[in-house]
Amino acid sequence: MATTQSLPPVDQSHKKDLGPISTPERLLLGPGPSNAHPIVLQALARSPIGHLDPLYVELMSEVQELLRYTWQTNNRLTLPMSGTGSSAMEATLANTVEPGDTVLVGVNGYFGNRLADMAGRYRANVQLIEKNWGEAFSLEELEAALIEHRPAILALVHAETSTGVCQPMDGIGDLCRQHNCLLLLDTVTSLGAVPVFLDDWKVDLAYSCSQKGLSCPPGLGPFTMGPRAEAKLAARSGKVPNWYLDVSLLNQYWGSDRVYHHTAPVNMNFGMREALRLLADEGLENSWTRHRANAEKLWAGLDRLGLKLHVPEELRLPTLTTVSIPEGVDGKAFSLHLLNKHGIEVGGGLGSLAGKIWRIGLMGYNSTPENVDRLLNLFESELPSFRQGVAVAA
Ligand code: PLP
Repeated sequence: MATTQSLPPVDQSHKKDLGPISTPERLLLGPGPSNAHPIVLQALARSPIGHLDPLYVELMSEVQELLRYTWQTNNRLTLPMSGTGSSAMEATLANTVEPGDTVLVGVNGYFGNRLADMAGRYRANVQLIEKNWGEAFSLEELEAALIEHRPAILALVHAETSTGVCQPMDGIGDLCRQHNCLLLLDTVTSLGAVPVFLDDWKVDLAYSCSQKGLSCPPGLGPFTMGPRAEAKLAARSGKVPNWYLDVSLLNQYWGSDRVYHHTAPVNMNFGMREALRLLADEGLENSWTRHRANAEKLWAGLDRLGLKLHVPEELRLPTLTTVSIPEGVDGKAFSLHLLNKHGIEVGGGLGSLAGKIWRIGLMGYNSTPENVDRLLNLFESELPSFRQGVAVAA
């Protein structure tokens, strides 16, 4: 090697002699990720093109437009953050919270706590309104908390993946306007699969993920911000304290200027474009109906097997069903058995529900009657041997 500098010998201690990657086929019926659509996987495998290539720039606009359709919003600032759902979650707060702003967070599960943690890191005065894990907030409870705390932002989780609860949204947006506060909504486990009408519900800030109802692998975090939230961003006294997630900078790339901000994960956006196109081809209403029908089939089947669901039917999420683990059953052993013996992933409980529930996801590409039948058959034929606490050899 021609060099003027003498180099030390290369340290080989971390070098591993590996074969090509090999991953098992899994049916992902847990809280996410769910299986990606095969057409999305093909799109991900395409050769990258430049992130400022005019063809890529056109694709960016397609993604933005289809996200607006999927969210039912006209928000100008709608784009996928380069990161998982949590990046878009953090972006909603990073852009709008100024030190000392009161952020009221509805905590009825794991992800409300994450919102509260993030808001605190942006030096908000964080106030909580709490419910048991498995319940939703009533309009009266939210109004009382708005009057008590007078927040700048109310943050709620529409679809709580940790509990399987869908928060009813009627009237909340109007309340927030009456009390002069922004409404921020987590739609990670609802977008594309459960009715979401951001503009109609008067939601000012929302985020989601790629790996659930959109049938894409994890890696992008759809983000949207309405005019009232934009006005709060414009009125900031200081810079957004997070360079990567600063929407005013990002919009120079995603808006008409097309100025470099960071090298976009182009293949993830190929996948997102295809995922959104497939969803639009199906039609939002049809996707919602499919998710509902398959969830109802699952609920009826579990009921026939004598299993109890954690959430009352009127609050149940079609995308994520929480099943109480029967007395005397080792829930973890059964889900490990499903994974090791049948290649099916089912989730366990988080936080206060750890060890108490299974979480079954029917999201996007995975929401099919065949998958429901396959899982119900296994619950019927193989759960009994776990009831006595006798684990079947995996
Ligand atoms: N919010 C909810 C309701 C979620 O279910 C998740 C993840 O599953 C997130 C936020 C965070 O998304 P991610 O794990 O993609 O960062």
